[in-house]
Amino acid sequence: MLAPQTEPQFAIEARGLDKTYSAQGKGNATHALKSVDLVVPRGSFFGLLGPNGAGKSTFINILGGLVVKSGGTAKIWGHDITTDPMNARGAIGIVPQELNMDPFFTPGEALEIQAGYYGVPKAERRTEEILKAVGLWDKRDAYARTLSGGMKRRLLVAKAMVHAPPVLVLDEPTAGVDVELRRQLWDYVRSLHASGVTIVLTTHYLEEAQELCDTIAIINHGNVIACEPTHKLISRLDQKTLVVTPQTPVTPPLKGFEDFTFAMRPTGAFAITYRTGEHSVEEMLDRVRNAGISIKDLSIEEPDLEDVFVQLTA
Ligand code: ADP
Repeated sequence: MLAPQTEPQFAIEARGLDKTYSAQGKGNATHALKSVDLVVPRGSFFGLLGPNGAGKSTFINILGGLVVKSGGTAKIWGHDITTDPMNARGAIGIVPQELNMDPFFTPGEALEIQAGYYGVPKAERRTEEILKAVGLWDKRDAYARTLSGGMKRRLLVAKAMVHAPPVLVLDEPTAGVDVELRRQLWDYVRSLHASGVTIVLTTHYLEEAQELCDTIAIINHGNVIACEPTHKLISRLDQKTLVVTPQTPVTPPLKGFEDFTFAMRPTGAFAITYRTGEHSVEEMLDRVRNAGISIKDLSIEEPDLEDVFVQLTA
């Protein structure tokens, strides 16, 4: 349904993409993107992660035509954003971070206006289908200002999809959205992905990114510092955490664990993180016993995206 006639190699392809915001007033110029090479594979569910100020929004806003790049190239679905802006713009839908929308339009009107803006002929408009998909069909005639935060968020996703773009970018889509609505939003985005839409997501919720994204790029200070399949990124960390519940309460520091990352858990268990290339679990258990501790229970935790993120952006 959404696949165009010719399919490009990449959904998004940035080469040497650079952005410097010029100095304003007393402020210094900011080099927000430093010659970024980044490709988003066609059909992927791609996470673009990074700390605040890393350059994620700048990257997305360049793609959406809201920010003018200082150098390099960017293509969306094979269309250069500078030399072929109409087709580039038509290939992408962007769900912005802010919930700003005209309070006097109903969801039905908002979608019709958006479709008109993209030049979608009346006969090809899918207002009903899209509003039903995001669960807003019942609200099609309500003023936008009467919608809840979660509904507004879903209306923004609906607006981004009116021209059936092959690439959908969601910038922090679940900030402040409650658990149930988040699930609904992800169900819809997952169904779009299943139908062939390439999804690019920025989020602060690393758990969410780990669960949803097949590929993740981490950007920091305007540089891409990692970009690989999610499982590969996580397996970069050769560490595990041994969590021990002792028979009797212990008080740190424990003898023999001076060189390890050691943490007490609220349950009274303690957690020791060790490098799997340097230590075995047997050795770690020997250390626990040598510290005079008898073990009531134990488990081993694998690293997650958050651990990788912290290590790479530290
Ligand atoms: P992120 O989305 O990862 O939080 P941004 O792309 O918003 O990062 O910001 C990257 C850097 O560029 C930050 O240092 C930010 O302060 C700066 N920046 C962003 N937008 C502007 C702007 N319009 N003018 C000047 N500096 C900006």
